[in-house]
Amino acid sequence: MQKLPFVDLNIRHQKIDAEIIKAIKRILSSSTFILGDDVDAFEKEFSKYCNVKYCVGLDNGTSALELGMRSLNIGVGDEVITPVNSFIASSSAISMTGASPVWVDCDPKTYNIDPLKIEKKITKKTKAIMPVHLYGQPSNMKKIVSIAKKHKLHIIEDACQAHGALYGGKRVGHFGAYAAFSFYPGKNLGAFGDAGALVTNDKRIYETVKKMRNYGQSKKYHHDFIAWNRRLDTLQAAILRVKLRYLDKWNKQRIKHAHTYNQLLKGADVVRPYHDSSTTHVYHLYVIRVNDRDRLQKYLKEKGIATGIHYPVPIHLQKAYQLRGGKKGEFPISEKYAPQLLSLPMYPQLSEEKIQFIVNAIRQFQKFTIS
Ligand SMILES: *Cc1c(COP(=O)(O)O)cnc(C)c1O
Repeated sequence: MQKLPFVDLNIRHQKIDAEIIKAIKRILSSSTFILGDDVDAFEKEFSKYCNVKYCVGLDNGTSALELGMRSLNIGVGDEVITPVNSFIASSSAISMTGASPVWVDCDPKTYNIDPLKIEKKITKKTKAIMPVHLYGQPSNMKKIVSIAKKHKLHIIEDACQAHGALYGGKRVGHFGAYAAFSFYPGKNLGAFGDAGALVTNDKRIYETVKKMRNYGQSKKYHHDFIAWNRRLDTLQAAILRVKLRYLDKWNKQRIKHAHTYNQLLKGADVVRPYHDSSTTHVYHLYVIRVNDRDRLQKYLKEKGIATGIHYPVPIHLQKAYQLRGGKKGEFPISEKYAPQLLSLPMYPQLSEEKIQFIVNAIRQFQKFTIS
């Protein structure tokens, strides 16, 4: 039986093995394990890629979200507006600063934050709007930018799933005060462990976060404020520099696979991903909606096809936020979709034959359940 993983990190790495091993050996022989040239070089290369002025390499994407907010003095008593259907880190980063996440339901088609529902949530305490470019598709930045301007709010882009995605022909990352990226291994640009980055055009944010990641240090053993150790590991930076050169090619392959899925799934009883034509969706995830999702997932597993669920429980109903008293019915679209969403295998090394195999299995399941 052929086995289809949900993400395939192994093949991706084999192809560029030699280059990565060379990069790792370079770090071993120079023994620059903390910060140094490769971190600086990666920051330059990634900011250039995103078309922004500055980048700070960090230990993960959640740190990028959190430290950026701290650099804007967002904290206790403040509110940040963010989607209720995202990975928990978007909201928990807000909570870590002492501020409160204020949730908004999703657009029924794109699954991103619904811009029509943002203004109702703005109060005197609101400091920022944090859209998440979910599954690799940018949020409706035109509307979000105009709301933020009108109410004088910061925009924080959670771009942890959207490396290289475009909105209005421009890469995400420059629409707000700053953007956060994660290089968790399964992301479109993934390290060999945890890693992340903040990108910004604001020199003050850049300089502050650069100190925040390194004990508030301005000069060795001179500390301007009490701070953290949240540095990007040098070995990860060296690996990311190699992989960054492949990112556009990999994103193109993902887009091609999404088109293949879209074609082959025509007529099946599934809601395919909606693509907003003002964006280039980089398909971090290929997410469909189906009835009888859990049984379909089990059926696919029996056929050797691994799938994912992003995300089974909307954030307001997570135990972590039970003190806030989230109620069923508060965010009807996200709640209705949570038991329907199914993420199909998606990674650059997929092929048309593999996608055909997956789609055939879905059709077989649906034939059995109808008859
Ligand atoms: C992955 C992810 C994060 C967190 O990134 P880490 O590197 O795991 O800290 C934040 N937000 C979203 C939407 C993500 O997908």
